[in-house]
Amino acid sequence: MIHLSDRLNAMEESATLAMARLSRTLRSEGKDIISLSLGEPDFNTPQFIKDAAIKAINENYTTYTPVAGYDELREKIAHKLLRDNGLTYTKDQIVVSTGAKQSIANAVLSIINPGDEVIIPAPYWVSYIEIVKMAGGIPVVIEATVEEDFKISGEQLEQAITPRTKMFIFSSPCNPTGSVYSYKELESLAKVLERHPHMVALSDEIYEHINFIGAHQSLAQFTTIFDQVITVNGASKAWAMTGWRLGYLAASKPIADACNKIQGQFTSGTNSITQRAAMVAMDADPKILAEMVLTFEKRRDLVLNYLLKIPGIKVNKPTGAFYLFPDVSYYFGASFENYTINNGKDLCMYLLQEANIALVDGSGFGAPKCIRISYATSEELLEKAMQRLTEALAKLRK
Ligand code: PMP
Ligand code: GLU
Repeated sequence: MIHLSDRLNAMEESATLAMARLSRTLRSEGKDIISLSLGEPDFNTPQFIKDAAIKAINENYTTYTPVAGYDELREKIAHKLLRDNGLTYTKDQIVVSTGAKQSIANAVLSIINPGDEVIIPAPYWVSYIEIVKMAGGIPVVIEATVEEDFKISGEQLEQAITPRTKMFIFSSPCNPTGSVYSYKELESLAKVLERHPHMVALSDEIYEHINFIGAHQSLAQFTTIFDQVITVNGASKAWAMTGWRLGYLAASKPIADACNKIQGQFTSGTNSITQRAAMVAMDADPKILAEMVLTFEKRRDLVLNYLLKIPGIKVNKPTGAFYLFPDVSYYFGASFENYTINNGKDLCMYLLQEANIALVDGSGFGAPKCIRISYATSEELLEKAMQRLTEALAKLRK
């Protein structure tokens, strides 16, 4: 009998990927499942990016690349960070990886020693906690509620800091809440970080372009903490390139060098074709994404309008990303036929089996009263899904 590692046994499976897998299986069995589980744009990768990839294949960009990515790509990322975010990085401060997820893992493994504390506001993206645990770190969670639009203040951050705190990880726009930190809100976090210069902040900006309230704000713009910030981003969300696998981080040179070293032993440089394709994405004017952003905003309104009409549900109005994260705890304790709903997981299973819609339970995101709805799908399917959700919840009796 093989004993798997304690590290593995201590790890939770990604709740988002688990639900996506389950809904794919049910679909392959012929069930009419509408999956609102996975955070993945339903748009196709733009043609000019696909053309660049085809060209790369024909031009034989098929060998190993430098671990941190082609120099030319890193220069284009540096240019993008200046153009869109006002951040000045040189190419040797940038490490390209196989997705923002790997960039986060590189950063955490580079910085965290066993016993180091990492502050993570909840709701958080599912993988932060598990990556920190894998590095032997101790996640310290600050709970933010729907009433606070799921955001934390500088004061809350300050209160969570101890002599063992090494890192702070958050996303804005946020997965799973869609909340977006304003300049002022980030400034209040930056002031706290400035008082703790031994701390590093990882700012996950993968949803940068999916923002309904105007200009994206980067944490690294606050010059006094610039060297403390790791900016993570990638091509998956804005350019509908989830399967291509391209993320990157930008950080002070010692952190970038550390991530390069780690990546050199784990995976090497990401796919050469993907990197060539990403070069044209980085060069493209983000204004061409306006139509996609508008489409997401319309979908947000559609789903939100349904949710606001359902008794007992509490929900914020997200201003970015493509998720809604309603508090559904009103339904805990309710039942219908053989189903009794004790928690979000039970509710998601009930909705999957009774209403054929796949959603993700909030417990993996550190918010067990909530469930996540990804609205990265057509309005037609969203209408259908929300009607099913409304009917299924109406059947539950306390
Ligand atoms: N951060 C957040 C907040 C995410 O939602 C995701 C999911 N795509 C990632 C990172 C990972 O992105 P990637 O596909 O680039 O690995
Ligand atoms: N980030 C996406 C999500 O939250 C994709 C799944 C994953 O990588 O966990 O659904």
